[in-house]
Amino acid sequence: MTTNMENKVAAITGGSSGIGLATAQVFLRTGAKVAICGRSQERLDEAAEGLASISGKENVLAYSCDVLDESAVGGFQAAVTERFGRCDALVCNAGQARASYFHTTSDQDWRDEFELKFFSVIRPVRAFADALEVSGAGAIVCTSAGLARRPEPFLIATGATRAGQLNLLKSLSIEFAPRNIRVNAVLIGLVDSGQWSRRYEAGEGPDGREIPDGMSKEEWFADLAKTRHIPLGRLGEPEEAANAILFFASPMSSYITGETIEVAGGQARNV
Ligand code: NDP
Repeated sequence: MTTNMENKVAAITGGSSGIGLATAQVFLRTGAKVAICGRSQERLDEAAEGLASISGKENVLAYSCDVLDESAVGGFQAAVTERFGRCDALVCNAGQARASYFHTTSDQDWRDEFELKFFSVIRPVRAFADALEVSGAGAIVCTSAGLARRPEPFLIATGATRAGQLNLLKSLSIEFAPRNIRVNAVLIGLVDSGQWSRRYEAGEGPDGREIPDGMSKEEWFADLAKTRHIPLGRLGEPEEAANAILFFASPMSSYITGETIEVAGGQARNV
C-alpha cells in the first residue's frame, strides 16, 4: 500500500515546531510538497531550512501567519496557490493548551481559548476549502486532544473548547462530503513537543505541580507517563502523531470522514 502523496500539496498550520513540524517532515518523505505557517519568523526559518534538506527548497514554503488573523490566513492560502498551484490537504494544527482551573480562568481567558480552538480551524478551512474541492480528494485533518473526551479540571477551558471543536468537525465532515473533502481529527494524549519543553523549562506541569529540582526532562516525562496512567509507559514522539495525520490526509483513508484516531499510548479507556 502506498500513501499516494507524491506531488500532493499539504498546508500545515503551526508547522514550525513539534507535531506540525514532524508532520511536514513525514509528508515530504512521502513525496508531497508542504507549506507551513507559524507566527515566529525565526522558528519558521529554522524549520524551513531543516525541511529543505529533506527534499529540496522548491518543495517547501514557510509563511509567517497568525491563524487568528483572517487576512494573514488569506495571504497564506494565496502564497500556497502561487507557489504550488494547488492544495490537497489542510492540517489545522496550530495552537497550545491553556493551563487553568475554573477559579483561575477569567472571562477573557475563556474568550481567548474559544477564539484559538475554533478560529484556528474556521479561518484556515474557509480560506482553503475551494482549493481542497478542486483537488478532487481534499482532506482536512485537525490536531485535537484526547482531553475533548477526558476532561481534566486543570485544563478546563481547553477541554471544553476541544470538545466543541469535535462537534464542529463532525458538522464540517457532513457539509463538505459532497465536495469530496474529508474531515477528520487526531486526538493527542501527551506528545513530546515544544509545549512540553517549555513547561519543563518553566519548572511546572499544566496541573500546577512543580518539577522537583534536579529532575531531568526524561525523568519528568517518565513520571508524567506514570501519573497519567499511560499504558505504553511513555510520552509519544511527534512523528507518531504525524503518521496518524498522514493517514487521514492521504487516500489511504479515502472512505473515512468525520472520525478520530487517538494517539495517546492507550490512555483512552473507553472501548
Ligand atoms: P508546539 O508548541 O511544539 O507547536 C505549536 C505550533 O503552533 C508552533 O509552530 C507555533 O508557532 C504554532 N502556533 C501557535 N499558535 C499559533 C497561531 N495563533 N498562529 C499560527 N501558528 C501558531 O506544540 P505541539 O506540537 O504540542 O502542538 C500542536 C497541536 O497539538 C496544538 O494544537 C496542541 O494544542 C495540540 N496538542 C498537543 C498535545 C501534546 O501533548 N503535545 C496534546 C494535545 C493537543 P508560533 O508559536 O511561532 O506561532
